[in-house]
Amino acid sequence: MKPITVPFLLAGALQVLPLLGGLSTVVAAAEADQRPNILFIMTDDHASHAMTCYGSVVNKTPHLDRIAEGGVRFDNCFVTNSICTPSRATILTGKYSHLNGVPVFNRFDGSQPTVAKHLQAAGYYTGLIGKWHLGSDPTGFDHWEILPGQGRYRNPVFYTATDTRTIEGYCTDIINDLSIEFLKNRPKDRPFFLMSHHKAPHRAWEPDERHGAMFANRTIPEPATLRDDYATRTDAIKENQQRVFDDMTRRDLKLKPPADLKGKELNQWLGVKPTEVEIEVDGRKKILTGEELNAWKYQRYMQDYLACVQSVDTNVGRLLDWLDANGLSENTIVIYTSDQGFYLGDKGMYDKRFMYEESLRTPFVVRWPGVIKPGTVQKGMALNVDFAPTLLDVAGIPIPADIQGRSLLPLLRGDRPADWRTSMYYRYYHDPGHHRTAAHYGVRTETHKLIYFWKKNQWEMFDLVADPHEQKNLYGNPAHRELQEKLKAELYRLKRELNDNDQFAHEQPPAGVDGPPPRRGANP
Ligand code: CA
Repeated sequence: MKPITVPFLLAGALQVLPLLGGLSTVVAAAEADQRPNILFIMTDDHASHAMTCYGSVVNKTPHLDRIAEGGVRFDNCFVTNSICTPSRATILTGKYSHLNGVPVFNRFDGSQPTVAKHLQAAGYYTGLIGKWHLGSDPTGFDHWEILPGQGRYRNPVFYTATDTRTIEGYCTDIINDLSIEFLKNRPKDRPFFLMSHHKAPHRAWEPDERHGAMFANRTIPEPATLRDDYATRTDAIKENQQRVFDDMTRRDLKLKPPADLKGKELNQWLGVKPTEVEIEVDGRKKILTGEELNAWKYQRYMQDYLACVQSVDTNVGRLLDWLDANGLSENTIVIYTSDQGFYLGDKGMYDKRFMYEESLRTPFVVRWPGVIKPGTVQKGMALNVDFAPTLLDVAGIPIPADIQGRSLLPLLRGDRPADWRTSMYYRYYHDPGHHRTAAHYGVRTETHKLIYFWKKNQWEMFDLVADPHEQKNLYGNPAHRELQEKLKAELYRLKRELNDNDQFAHEQPPAGVDGPPPRRGANP
């Protein structure tokens, strides 16, 4: 049985609730104004190492940093399945993929309990704006307006329960505007719960003009492992097809197609992974190949990716200013996170999926004036499976026993209970899928990681303290036999504890589909 923590604002009223029985609803209603608003801002594929507060050397994010500076920064927040749709299902349910039914790009069964439904039932005014990517219609929200599938960066289409409309402009600006509209139009006598979900900075990284111009001529430092040769590691990483040098397409690199190409031919042209590229330097044409082209590809990728992040930063700043101007900052918990991390050329890759540090870790910063001490840094291990129970806990709602995560409330306050987790379980299923990422499961402790690619029957083991970039696979090394067996025992202990009985071990993702089918029409 999980302990139910009560936020201090409500402690007085709610401590007596179990004694009052039937009167509890009356007491809760009387205290409704006191419950904190919850603003949950999530981006898609934003690596924490592209945020200044996490030590970024590639960009500056002053507005996202405002949340961390005014609250807490979690340095070890991990996802349990590093890919968009599964992570979103986990965040909503507080359950691992094998229990919420979304291991790959499955359509989310909206009849199951979610954090939104619980908050709505408890009197919160609930909303969801932006990327949803779960195939079915959102449930548990008083108001929602979503992108179909991945959505578009420019002039995006939005769905509501009854309408479809196209909004002119740039997706990140629009999602922020719609979020502010939701806040303006909310009933003022109830606390709100808003999930403001950006599309950015998801591939194909299409910045708006203003932020694109900020990065167009910038030279971004290369990460230490950009030219990783994968020595000592398994076939799984050697076979990956998410390499900056080898797998970026003309579309990713924003190369200009010949003017006469249209339809299928244009798509084919854009899908080519170029081995030579013609650019213009000081008015002269130059052909790039080999190592010169590789370095150029990394710059093109990062310039666009970071410009997309910068637009998020600008818009989050606008949203925080709006809260300030409307007297909402004091009683609103503001959370910023991403559905997972991302490779910024790390290990030679872009994208996510692998259990390696850069995509396993996700940014998680939380501001809650009066409860979280500004500038708190939390090293305790948080998981995306914890988000739902945390939000229920801060709203004073009992956490259902079948939720697998644990409330982060003590960690928000800067504490770490003596029995807090020191290891986490991960499982990725999307194989065969995009980027040839082999299915795997594994365990990460505070110091080590063990990964099992079950379809290949191959293992990797890393010492994260001595080898933070995970370059040296220690699996099978007789000197580390004892450690290996200990990690294996912990891996299978967690797997059992979480009721992962390989329910989806043979799940085949639909070929060529980048997400579950959207509710209406084709994926734009
Ligand atoms: Ca994502």
